[in-house]
Amino acid sequence: MEQHFDLAVVGAGVVGLAHALAAVRLGKRVVVIDRDAQANGASVRNFGFVTVTGQARGEVWRRARRSAEVWSEIAGPAEIDVLQRGLTMVARRPEAMAVLEAFLETEMADGCGWREVADLGDRLPGQGKVLGALTSQVDLRVESRTAIPRLAAWLEAAHAVTFLRGAAVRGVETGRLETSVGVVHADAIVVCPGDDLVTLFPERFSRAEVTRCKLQMLRLADPGWRLPAPVMSDLGLVRYLGYAALPQADALRARLAAEQGAHLQHGVHLIVVQSADGSLVVGDSHHYAATPDPFARDDVDALILDEFAQVFGQAPPPVLERWTGTYASAAGHSLVEAPLPCVRLVTVTSGTGASTAFGLGEEVIADLYARPQGVMA
Ligand SMILES: Cc1cc2nc3c(=O)[nH]c(=O)nc-3n(C[C@H](O)[C@H](O)[C@H](O)COP(=O)(O)OP(=O)(O)OC[C@H]3O[C@@H](n4cnc5c(N)ncnc54)[C@H](O)[C@@H]3O)c2cc1C
Repeated sequence: MEQHFDLAVVGAGVVGLAHALAAVRLGKRVVVIDRDAQANGASVRNFGFVTVTGQARGEVWRRARRSAEVWSEIAGPAEIDVLQRGLTMVARRPEAMAVLEAFLETEMADGCGWREVADLGDRLPGQGKVLGALTSQVDLRVESRTAIPRLAAWLEAAHAVTFLRGAAVRGVETGRLETSVGVVHADAIVVCPGDDLVTLFPERFSRAEVTRCKLQMLRLADPGWRLPAPVMSDLGLVRYLGYAALPQADALRARLAAEQGAHLQHGVHLIVVQSADGSLVVGDSHHYAATPDPFARDDVDALILDEFAQVFGQAPPPVLERWTGTYASAAGHSLVEAPLPCVRLVTVTSGTGASTAFGLGEEVIADLYARPQGVMA
């Protein structure tokens, strides 16, 4: 049976759902189409860490701030628990402290402060050899594997969004989608395929040199203490552009290359977040390929756990789970194109979709309805 909607969204990951939310807030009738029976991509494999502090200066940082606001707005109605708030960005080296001191002088440090080791309190239970930490209030953390299904269920129940699951979209034209379960008609279409770079508009991904990135993740047993905010450390300061683009990051990069070369080689940095049952989600690593292999290497996990031990001054608790995830990767925060009139192609290419999708979705939907033809590049 053919159906007609104001907007069709391809992809029920966080990016697709963010566009659906922005559209229903404008009163649009929306259908979300996904080939999987339930969310199974990057959006449920991530930390659920909505990171504002450290995002690239300017528009990405503003998108992240807006996205954190939207997560807070919808958490109650959608019954999504915000499990942690803020960030504890630990400095283990003087060079890391210098980066954080410089960061604190920028406009991005709104709501952030510096704490000496003695003042870290419950922010860092079980301290390793650290010099202090930047603390922020604006970031937050949700449990993605439940938050994404709840967000979809709320969009369906409270905003009458239709979900077509188990439906692969094979072709998109203005006003029409051909799927594995039939044709869907929609006045406007937003394609949010995550890291499927070959099914829809592959030439756009290829032209923008988009590839894929594989990450290794671990869940550790409850350590017996509680973290009010996610924890990161020096290695993150040379990855997150809000810090890494500061001139002070050069000295830190050089020291890390000398002391933690293997960590840098495998793109390892430390993020530690805590779930409601006390278990910790810990990661991650970064390996790039058009088709990354699906295997999690033990030596790479060992590098992640080594940084955990340095920061917390104790051996990591037992590993409960291991998994890998992949996301689309390219220079720049995201690929947003108008391949056809009334059609947008949107992929976050920087591994920050949980942190920025709501802000990005609002921008794309506003532009789609203001300039439906888009700019045909
Ligand atoms: C391990 C890991 C940790 C991360 N940690 C964080 C973090 O803490 N904070 C953060 O901000 N970001 C994080 N990220 C990045 C973030 O998860 C991604 O940027 C984001 O989830 C991308 O969302 P998406 O909706 O584009 O992709 P996905 O979640 O992959 O969803 C895309 C969906 O599109 C569907 N689809 C694709 N093509 C078709 C088609 N032709 N027909 C039908 N359906 C189709 C797929 O089935 C899929 O469900 C992490 C990523 C990973 C992998």
